[in-house]
Amino acid sequence: MPRPIFATVSRHAFSHNLDVVRRRLDAARPDGGRARIWAVIKANAYGHGIERAVAGFARADGLAMLDLSEAVRCREAGWTGPILLLEGIFEAADLDAVGRYGLTTAVHHADQLALLRQARLPRAVDVFLKLNSGMNRLGFSPDAYAGAHAGLAALQAAGRLGQVGHMTHFSTADTAEGIEAQLEVFRRATAGLPGPVSLCNSAASLRYPEVAGDWARPGIALYGATPFADESAESLGLVPAMALKSRLIGTQELRAGDAVGYGGMYRAEGPMRVGVVACGYADGYPRHAPTGTPVVVDGVRTRLLGRVSMDMLAVDLGPVPRAQAGAPVTLWGDEGLSVDDVATAAGTIGYELLCAVAPRVPMHFEE
Ligand SMILES: *Cc1c(COP(=O)(O)O)cnc(C)c1O
Repeated sequence: MPRPIFATVSRHAFSHNLDVVRRRLDAARPDGGRARIWAVIKANAYGHGIERAVAGFARADGLAMLDLSEAVRCREAGWTGPILLLEGIFEAADLDAVGRYGLTTAVHHADQLALLRQARLPRAVDVFLKLNSGMNRLGFSPDAYAGAHAGLAALQAAGRLGQVGHMTHFSTADTAEGIEAQLEVFRRATAGLPGPVSLCNSAASLRYPEVAGDWARPGIALYGATPFADESAESLGLVPAMALKSRLIGTQELRAGDAVGYGGMYRAEGPMRVGVVACGYADGYPRHAPTGTPVVVDGVRTRLLGRVSMDMLAVDLGPVPRAQAGAPVTLWGDEGLSVDDVATAAGTIGYELLCAVAPRVPMHFEE
């Protein structure tokens, strides 16, 4: 028998979450029209698998990612709609694939503009020019934006580019600071320039749907996790797309003073039963999750004890006194235990845990 750890990915959750985001965006549109959605599937679809995401997001308007190889996998999986490379190309050779596979590419740096100028493209390429509106990660500065746009417009006039759109990325859509300052910078830099606009990640799509423009770019919400520290996925109507599950493979009876795991980080205060779960940091479970991190055993919420090992972790069987080896365990994504609950306990965010599920964990795709 293989180790009992596995993950399930729900196709229904993908399409449900896409609908939740779409309804928010559409309800806020002043023109009664429909927002288009780039489903962001970077990082192997936030750990869920590119091919599963292509199937689950069949009703998205486009797919967005960073990696050319992931874009090619989308085409090979049968996706014929738009594909956006969020960081654009990294070298001249990438433009061959952009042309061959009909990809849309971000242009965030003068070098990328130069490569587009020099390239012999087999067809007109759609691009999104990226503005640095204040996050100071990628994008042209507001001062350089009009010049970069003029460069792209010249290529467009020569028939070498198709659509030239505008994009930026918000750094504080999930906090009290909001998007106002960056939005103002974006509006000023793009005033009077034609072309579609793409602004909103999940947090902005859900909190500021009225500014979404032509194309929203939600990621995390589509996987059923929350982009917010103060609002749960469940309260947003989102459903977890991934559940991480395993079983107890052993139990121990402790006396007062007995320690659990490496470093003896947890010590029993009195007699207690401990369960050993086949899940460790080599499966992607966070090693820095402390004692108290929630775990569900046999349908009952209990807690992690001591340090997470490479292949195992220990749990308190106090709330589940009858649990034996073989009892089912949910690490996250089912039975009321969200990946965000685990992430919060471990001092990180759901994004990181989902992306980190290890290749050795078998993943099953379900309806
Ligand atoms: C990752 C990413 C997104 C999606 O962000 P979420 O917070 O997961 O919704 C959108 N746009 C860009 C440019 C990104 O890199």
